[in-house]
Amino acid sequence: MKNETNKNFIMLIIDEHNENNRFNKQVHTRFPPEPNGYLHIGHAKSININFGLAKEYGGLCNLRFDDTNPSKEDTEYVDSIMKDIKWLGFNWEDRIYYASDYFEQFYKYAVKLMNKGLAYIDDLNAEEIRKYRGTLTEAGKDSPYRTRPIEENLELFEKMKNGEFPDGSKTLRAKIDMSSPNLNMRDPVIYRILHAKHHRTGDTWCIYPMYDWAHPLSDSIEKITHSICTLEFKDHRPLYDWFLEKLEIHHSQQIEFARLNLSYTILSKRKLIMLVNKNIVSGWDDPRMPTISGMRRRGYPPKAIREFCSNIGVSTSNSLVDIEFLEYFVREELNKTSPRIMGVLNPIKVIITNYPEDKVEYIDAVNNPEDTTSGTRKVPFSRELYIEREDFMEEPVKKFYRLSPGREVRFRYAYFLTCTGVNKDEKGNITEILCTYDPETKGGNAPDGRRSKATLHWVSVKHAKKITVRLYNKLFNQKDPSITEEGEDFTINLNPRSLEILNECYIEPSIENAKTGDIYQLERLGYFVLDKDSTPDNKIFNRTITLRDTWKKIQKNNSQAHK
Ligand code: ATP
Ligand code: MG
Repeated sequence: MKNETNKNFIMLIIDEHNENNRFNKQVHTRFPPEPNGYLHIGHAKSININFGLAKEYGGLCNLRFDDTNPSKEDTEYVDSIMKDIKWLGFNWEDRIYYASDYFEQFYKYAVKLMNKGLAYIDDLNAEEIRKYRGTLTEAGKDSPYRTRPIEENLELFEKMKNGEFPDGSKTLRAKIDMSSPNLNMRDPVIYRILHAKHHRTGDTWCIYPMYDWAHPLSDSIEKITHSICTLEFKDHRPLYDWFLEKLEIHHSQQIEFARLNLSYTILSKRKLIMLVNKNIVSGWDDPRMPTISGMRRRGYPPKAIREFCSNIGVSTSNSLVDIEFLEYFVREELNKTSPRIMGVLNPIKVIITNYPEDKVEYIDAVNNPEDTTSGTRKVPFSRELYIEREDFMEEPVKKFYRLSPGREVRFRYAYFLTCTGVNKDEKGNITEILCTYDPETKGGNAPDGRRSKATLHWVSVKHAKKITVRLYNKLFNQKDPSITEEGEDFTINLNPRSLEILNECYIEPSIENAKTGDIYQLERLGYFVLDKDSTPDNKIFNRTITLRDTWKKIQKNNSQAHK
């Protein structure tokens, strides 16, 4: 982002502030998650913007837990959020804050507003408040309690704080304008009574601030310069500004950007919680989830997620980003970093009839052709091998160039093998493929220059490790899974085949010491990550992604969509 043309609209606003010295040329942002769920890829976009701007301008970015709603929040979420931000590669250093630490200050500011005659205690209940609010086309009506004297307001507020009233019996409201065309300005509620235990403040409070009150004040207390949020808060900005102006305290600039929407993906915490609670997925970190923890377990590298976030751009209009665009960055990164090995997902045995029974050769195989420092390893080769069932056809169809009777193909790094026949069971199913090998083709090259149209991957039967593989498909089968017919909920769009488990796969022995999170490219099959559910006797690999890149194709059809 070195030149002007590469700057997004937020940077242009910051540049303007720097020019007219609005914030002394400081940039101080914050990422403000509510700890009521795990972070997802949409949050990653926000994290990348907030921490990214701070870095770009030599400023700071705070982590602030927006924990003002006691009923849905939990320390499990707080811990997972910290873990995920760190894993993504961002650092709040010592600047971790909790909105709940400001409850006392929020309370004082409310008193200040009341003293200025700009807030009042209302006895209307929620239903009545709604009725009095009016509509987009109709002005609201003043509450009969709007003109309560300041002294009485102060006294009642204190009693509210002391727990003297039941839930919902009173509220504190800002006194703004019941006929404002912006409904948010029609005397919004800023405190409600709620006798609930908070995960950090316990039973200390029985009044809790509303989001529109807590958020600008938290920004102000932390001296945030640019308070970046998603578009749905645009209509709340006049209120944000009103509070800070009337309280005469540090005034951050709210800036709204378009949230990330991703095809075939749900990014609403409320809906993600439902998938977890109904056991539709195995948890927040199920590899099919769009959560950061799900992606980590799936094998997505943090760098790929950062690159994706940087390349989708920042704009002021909502759009739907293709999931293939994210997958493109995952492949780009894994191609550079993951070692290649061989494994077979759907095995059938090959017997090399002219290869000695007890002989084992250790064949040199390249670890990663993209990384010249990665070297080679020894892969055992012997008389019996596994190959993929799909790599053999007894009666080959047109354009099938792999193994079939009478045909010679290359076995990667090893030899040229020719199929001489098959063994079948009594039902006629092929149980074994018989081959001969040409000892002159060691290393997989024929000295006479003859070629093979196919190269197969393989593993030695007696050396192979048996593993379990989980194959993942899209969790939803609709491009926008939130669209449903009336009366249906989004789960109708779940893909019933999003997970397929293969229990008898074989892999070369070099993975013996693999650790949870290690990622390999299985040649021709995709990228696979060792899952935390593995035991020493049963290693479980998740397929991160296949090798086929559909993004380039989409890009061709749709070349400017993401700029
Ligand atoms: P959800 O709609 O999933 O419940 P939220 O906005 O309530 O999300 P918060 O924890 O309040 O979740 O979000 C923290 C920050 O992340 C906010 O600044 C919010 O605007 C931003 N954010 C949330 N979802 C997205 C998204 N899809 N794209 C970009 N930013 C997002
Ligand atoms: Mg929110």
